Amino acid sequence: MNNARSHELFARASQLLPGGVNSPVRAFKSVGGEPFFAARAQGAYLYDVDGNRYVDYVGSWGPMIAGHAHPQVLAAVERTMRDGLSFGVPNALEVAMAEEIVKIVPGCEMVRMVNSGTEATLSAIRVARGATGRSRIVKFEGCYHGHGDSFLVKAGSGVMTLGLPNSPGVPSALADLTLTLPYNDFDAATKLFDEVGDEIAGLIIEPIVGNANCILPREGYLQHLRALCSKHGALLIFDEVMTGFRVALGGAQALYGIEPDLSTFGKIIGGGMPVGAYGGRRELMSQVAPSGPIYQAGTLSGNPVAMAAGLATLALIQAPGFHADLDRRTHVLCDGLEAAAREAGVAFHTTRAPGMFGLYFREGPVETFEDAKASDTARFNRFFHGMLERGVYLAPSAFEAGFVSSAHGEAEIAYTLEAARAAFAAL
Ligand code: PMP
Repeated sequence: MNNARSHELFARASQLLPGGVNSPVRAFKSVGGEPFFAARAQGAYLYDVDGNRYVDYVGSWGPMIAGHAHPQVLAAVERTMRDGLSFGVPNALEVAMAEEIVKIVPGCEMVRMVNSGTEATLSAIRVARGATGRSRIVKFEGCYHGHGDSFLVKAGSGVMTLGLPNSPGVPSALADLTLTLPYNDFDAATKLFDEVGDEIAGLIIEPIVGNANCILPREGYLQHLRALCSKHGALLIFDEVMTGFRVALGGAQALYGIEPDLSTFGKIIGGGMPVGAYGGRRELMSQVAPSGPIYQAGTLSGNPVAMAAGLATLALIQAPGFHADLDRRTHVLCDGLEAAAREAGVAFHTTRAPGMFGLYFREGPVETFEDAKASDTARFNRFFHGMLERGVYLAPSAFEAGFVSSAHGEAEIAYTLEAARAAFAAL
């Protein structure tokens, strides 16, 4: 595989950008080697600047659920941009987006648009603290909620693969207000709430953990957290930046039938443009400025072109059977990968939710962060490169979930499984 142009670009980038990238996991630090530079993308495929083609299971880390460069999304962007890129006054597409989110997501009566998942989670905990008058928050080991100061405590994938449990620059006075729990441990949560429940403003969780690979909630676990939060007057915050509009149209809260008090979103609602959102019960969201005293703002928030891309994507995923079909594709892929590993005698396990999956180089089951960490990451890294050489791009970290889109058809999955048989055999 020729990588001359990517190599040259990475050398230049490394002089100018920290690690040569604008977001750490892109640098291939944990898998080794150098990243490739994208030239374009179409459907399930990424094409690099050297002309190599990859079946893409990253999908820009989630937004491309309908495939790259979908004609309806591009048409909406083109139409909208002709009227101007940003107005700084309200526009109709913001209203349409809010109506869509409130219609689709069970726990959202009001929303506020922002520009990233990080902004969404930062704002949601500000609302939790402002509305409850409490300071402490609870998060889970292995969960990532963006790079806000309060969240860089046992924060999963990017932080974990770089071996940074916390980050310099985060004042301990703030980090101390973040309590962490092991995901899927019922008793640990009960105990913490028994001890300090009346000091907790909110508990934030990835309902399906996509930043420690892909860990599903044990039966009744999310209900347990819902009950604890209600009992102790803490707000339950679902970070659905990854799971929202993916694991079901209404996200994990629809899939598991649980109403959080607040939810955060990103990725899919921007259709590939920089977008995030947070929302929840009217009584909470109406405390946000200017209708209430909790301040949060954004120069480019609700950007018309971004709203157009997001609305076009939301229209595509509301086609009848979209999520059932995504789920079926995910199972075909994961069943095929497990069969290929078995043939090659490789200890391997997958976890799945509709449109997302985790790969583990160990036997199952994987139900906790400790289980996920016990995956053989050196083996994953060899497999990652074996697949890359064969034209399949997996997430460049053993602790990031993979994503399937509606553009991953039979041909792309068959191609992937053929590559996997060879890559497993070469391990
Ligand atoms: N929450 C979750 C669950 C995420 O996966 C991410 C990013 N992968 C974020 C928040 C942060 O979003 P962003 O990168 O858009 O700031």
